[in-house]
Amino acid sequence: MGGPGLPCVHCGLCLDTCPTYRVLGTEADSPRGRIYIMEGIRDGELEFDDEAALHLSRCLGCLACESACPSGVSFGRRIEEFRPRLAERTGSTRRWQDLARKAYTSDALVDAGVKVASLLDRAGLGGVRRKVPGLGLLPGSLPGSQPSSSAGVSPLRRSTSHQPLRARARVAVLTGCVADRVLPDINRDTVEVLQRNGIEVVEVAGQQCCGALALHAGLTSDAVELAAANANALAGSDIDFVVTTAAGCSAMLRDYAHVLAGTSAAGRGEELASMSRDICELLVEIGFDAPARPLEARGNVAFHDACHLLHAQGISSAPRRVCEVALGRAPVDLGENAICCGSAGSYNIDHPVLSAEIGARKAELARERKATVVAVANVGCMLQIGQAVALAGLPTLVKHPVQLLAEAYRRSDTGA
Ligand code: SF4
Ligand code: SF4
Repeated sequence: MGGPGLPCVHCGLCLDTCPTYRVLGTEADSPRGRIYIMEGIRDGELEFDDEAALHLSRCLGCLACESACPSGVSFGRRIEEFRPRLAERTGSTRRWQDLARKAYTSDALVDAGVKVASLLDRAGLGGVRRKVPGLGLLPGSLPGSQPSSSAGVSPLRRSTSHQPLRARARVAVLTGCVADRVLPDINRDTVEVLQRNGIEVVEVAGQQCCGALALHAGLTSDAVELAAANANALAGSDIDFVVTTAAGCSAMLRDYAHVLAGTSAAGRGEELASMSRDICELLVEIGFDAPARPLEARGNVAFHDACHLLHAQGISSAPRRVCEVALGRAPVDLGENAICCGSAGSYNIDHPVLSAEIGARKAELARERKATVVAVANVGCMLQIGQAVALAGLPTLVKHPVQLLAEAYRRSDTGA
């Protein structure tokens, strides 16, 4: 088989890592089956009909198959090239496109969704709304929802008054589109942790959504436009690093050289890719203080890997290290850590039943581990696992590692 990268040798070693194959058990919903479909369509041997589009659209883009493949097959590039054709072909994706366009450009829409979710939860309808695609993921007031103490307030604007006098580095935080509105405490805690460790946080005007949601929805020209705006705004400013708290965003920034290839922003895209860091990765790279009083009594904390850190960027030890320092002991693994939770941007909207089935496995694992907290370094996974544990009736909280570290610093300050 041809296409981007090396050919698939049909060994099947990737099958068990694929969440859709694990749930559905059908070859066409496996990495090997999808490669067969894409190559068949490309070579004119298969028709690009509704069935083929369904199997391809069920791919989460988690890249677990790439990590598992001993032949180095580049699955991600193959499916990425197919997404625009999928977007044209499938009605469900067109609906998502419309929603995505509005969601990632409209703070008001995200804020309204968060308010509706909280109202339904308070009216005793939380179980019902948790099953509504899109709305079900939003934090409300159910266990696992992580209601924000500061929703709707830009964490950067509230926090940049505590800059270190002699900064070790200057960073900009890519605040993210949905993340900054849905779970703003993560960005607030990120700024606090950076500043406590002698790092100056600067606001850079003109930053946008990273474009990953658009790329996943097959809206390539929108993704390129957003990437170019970020490259021109961030790579041209006087900073050492660009930090993100969402794995999908840092993976996207690191891919800007590819996304912007052949455009006038290609050079800046390459520069920005080299400056991009996940927050935990940066903390471990330049060093950070241990809290005087770690959160030893936080209960049973189970760590889950975010696919776009583990598979897309090869980052696994840094978020575990941040958790370990915050807790004063290493977290346990949730289990099946290399398997996606079923989040993946629009997936909850396009494939709500399958997404929920994949997510339910994470709730089962949280129950088996008796986890009081699931730590995961990506907002999409936090929302997805938060939804799964809420639907399972578990009291488990879902936290970003940087939230645990900020909490440990604050407890150390108060001696609580
Ligand atoms: S990217 Fe994930 S969902 Fe898609 S084929 Fe590979 S393992 Fe399966
Ligand atoms: S592991 Fe790699 S070579 Fe083997 S079936 Fe999967 S994609 Fe093909």
